[in-house]
Amino acid sequence: MKTFDSIRTRLTLWYVGVLALVLLAFSIGVYAMLARSLNERLNSGLRTSLEVMASTLARELAEGAAEAAGETQAGEEKEADEETLVEGEIKAKGEIEKEAAFSTVEDLNSPDQAIAIFNVQGRLISERAARGDLHAGWPPFDFISDESVRLLTLPGDQGGKRDGVRMAVRRVQAYTPGAPYLIVVAQSLRATAEELELLRRIFYFAVPIALTLAGLGGFFLARKALAPVAVMSARARRISADNLGERLPVANARDELGQLAATFNDLLARLNASFDQQRQFMTDASHELRTPLSVMHTTAEVTLKQPRRTESEYRDALEMMDAQVRRLARIVEDMFTLARADAGRHPLHQSDFYLDELIGETARAARMLAARKEVAVEVATASDVPFHGDEGLLRQMLLNLLDNAIRYTPAGGHVRLSLTLSDSICEISVADNGTGIPATAQSRIFERFYRADESRSRAEAAGGSGAGLGLAIARWIAEAHDGHLELRRSDESGSIFVASLPVNVR
Ligand code: ADP
Repeated sequence: MKTFDSIRTRLTLWYVGVLALVLLAFSIGVYAMLARSLNERLNSGLRTSLEVMASTLARELAEGAAEAAGETQAGEEKEADEETLVEGEIKAKGEIEKEAAFSTVEDLNSPDQAIAIFNVQGRLISERAARGDLHAGWPPFDFISDESVRLLTLPGDQGGKRDGVRMAVRRVQAYTPGAPYLIVVAQSLRATAEELELLRRIFYFAVPIALTLAGLGGFFLARKALAPVAVMSARARRISADNLGERLPVANARDELGQLAATFNDLLARLNASFDQQRQFMTDASHELRTPLSVMHTTAEVTLKQPRRTESEYRDALEMMDAQVRRLARIVEDMFTLARADAGRHPLHQSDFYLDELIGETARAARMLAARKEVAVEVATASDVPFHGDEGLLRQMLLNLLDNAIRYTPAGGHVRLSLTLSDSICEISVADNGTGIPATAQSRIFERFYRADESRSRAEAAGGSGAGLGLAIARWIAEAHDGHLELRRSDESGSIFVASLPVNVR
């Protein structure tokens, strides 16, 4: 058996294949969900920090401006020089900016986030680096016009020397109109990448291990589940015609294999029964053939023992042998009919004829036989009953029934043959007032070679072989015409056989 011919291997492969698909889908799903949630967490962290920083910066700038305004008012009284005043204001603005930006930057309390504050010209005012010396740089686009938060990713390089960076950028409108600032908060993507990498590694290890274990487990289970099959096939291999009585083991009658074994056992039982039947047939047949042969042999032996015999002695011997030969021929003929019927190869020579005419004709033939036994044969038939079937076989059926009826009816008795037609069914009944069939034998009389009273039927065999095949053949003939033959009644007052045949006139 090639490896792939084994159900066990195929089952295991299917199992592992399906599990691999499930695990793959599961891993991809988990990975995608984790990546998404990590990104969302990063984004919302950056966004929150940025918002907080923006409001801090605005507040610091406002506070600084308010303080400066107070100082300027006080100084105005001392120095009245206009130029110095303007210069002082510009200087103050720079200072305020710086201080506000510085304290804003210092306020950020996430060590993983870097922050930078630029003025409108792109000049860095203040910044604070994050862990790992990450600086928030000027974003790769022009100054943004509104105050919304922009999120962007700067990809890392291939070798992993520089990590990717996620940035949140926002414009902050300061107290002085026309002088906005840009706050950039940045965070390295390394932590996210590392977490995802760890998950990937877990999958790389766990999935193959899970598949290997599942494969081994599946193989073991398949072997266990299919073990009864191996036992069954080993046992089945040992069964032949000689030990058809053996049966396959049924581990669990309710499961599929148990049902298979039970079905197989049923088949064996049927085969066994038909083998037994065949064997019985052979035994019965040889037994039937042996009797006339041994009678002939004895007759010949006895006749030849004396060198000279009279003509009448030779004639008697030959007549005896002729009777046995005819009997033998009849038995062989009957067996041949049944063998061909069994094989479904007995030809039906169908023709159209009148059944009542056939019955009348058969009754006339039977009367000659009956006359010798002083048995009367009466006929009562419906007239003009057209029929389509094998006339020869139906004649044989009637003769077999009549032969039995006459044979088992004592002198002075009568046999009634009748034909009735109702609902397209012809009923042919053969009734006698003979000895009847013992109740114990009634169920068996249609079996081949069965005789209720062996000595009598053989001794009195006239038309039939007396081998116990007559009723078996008669029943087969009725069935070959889609009908059936039954013993309707049999007791001390006689027996009634009825053949029911559907009228199938073409
Ligand atoms: P056989 O060749 O012995 O007649 P059959 O198959 O025709 O064989 O009949 C089987 C047995 O049925 C007979 O041996 C006989 O005992 C019984 N039987 C059949 N028909 C009748 C009948 N009309 N009356 C009594 N017994 C009958």
